[in-house]
Amino acid sequence: MTLKVGVIGTGMIGQDHIRRLTQVLSGAVVTGVTDIDLERAASAAPMGAQVFDTPQALIGSDEVEAVVICSWGPAHEEQLLTCIAAGKPVFCEKPLVTSAEAALRVMEAEVAFGRRLVQVGFMRRFDADYRRLKAVIDGGTLGLPLMYKSVHRNASVPAGLYTSDMPLNDTLVHDADISRWLLNDEVAEVEVRLPRRSRQGCDLRDPHIVLLHMVSGVIVDVEISVNIAYGYDIRGEASCERGVAALPNRPATVISDAHGIRQAIPEDWRERFLEAYDQEFREWIVAASDGTATGPSTWDGYAATLVGDAALRAVASGVREPISLIEKPALYGPPVARAA
Ligand code: NAP
Repeated sequence: MTLKVGVIGTGMIGQDHIRRLTQVLSGAVVTGVTDIDLERAASAAPMGAQVFDTPQALIGSDEVEAVVICSWGPAHEEQLLTCIAAGKPVFCEKPLVTSAEAALRVMEAEVAFGRRLVQVGFMRRFDADYRRLKAVIDGGTLGLPLMYKSVHRNASVPAGLYTSDMPLNDTLVHDADISRWLLNDEVAEVEVRLPRRSRQGCDLRDPHIVLLHMVSGVIVDVEISVNIAYGYDIRGEASCERGVAALPNRPATVISDAHGIRQAIPEDWRERFLEAYDQEFREWIVAASDGTATGPSTWDGYAATLVGDAALRAVASGVREPISLIEKPALYGPPVARAA
């Protein structure tokens, strides 16, 4: 059976996901697209796909069995709620939504529907290196994890479009989600430290050190540098009771030439996580064809939203900001146990 997919938002990542669904993966066909800019939608539409005037028309169409949302964050809530009301599985790019209240409204609708329909685009969970790291931590041979270091470096960000709050309410969501997932934990408090400001790029508050104090007592330190000039560099290292487990630096090609021996650095997230995005959609197609979702859930999107909110509060207050999650609905699995 081939899953008929409609894509909302045909900008940068929407076009990449259309390519993925159309040219790379099997099991799905893009039957509909829409965008605020209908000309952009028309030019991104693969052969045979219908261009819909509105997201509502796309979601309501009999030719669309499952939806991929790649519009900008503030539009996600309404589009997610329309998908849930129609009972259609939906893959939503991060952020799930842009406020805790909106996340709760989406969660309430999905819980009332009674089955998971929403998958959030936290693609790192589908990356083979992160999966191997999680297997080592979960395997327990190194003992309990005590600290986790997450490094998130971008060569540059678009001047004018990327603002000083975005390292915390846009970029940090990936580090927050992967830390929660790797450690099987929730974030209890968030602290932010601001080192010397980089002169690189525009007048942004950059870099940031974010400390995530987890419910278990593990501390995660996140470095976010968004204008570091040399490339897109993602690192992760768990310090445990009897050893350390770390991601390899990717890609692994070692270049030897007249300048010495060095490893190439990916230019951006598309190159670093190419295979993770493919795997994320491979697993989504299987789940959505079964009328449901897998991997990062509405709960995970909600938790990441609260971390971003708390990080912004922590910049202003200079102290640890607490996170208060609602009781986890059973639909999203068991709650994290509190520290003894
Ligand atoms: P983009 O290039 O600006 O594309 C977004 C597209 O959606 C634009 O064509 C935009 O039109 C359109 N749009 C905005 N509001 C809409 C609405 N209400 N209905 C229909 N279309 C609408 O942005 P992008 O980089 O592709 O990012 C899209 C989403 O993916 C964002 O939520 C972003 O955070 C996420 N993302 C995730 C990752 C990841 O690592 N998982 C990476 C990149 C992006 P206008 O330009 O005219 O507003």
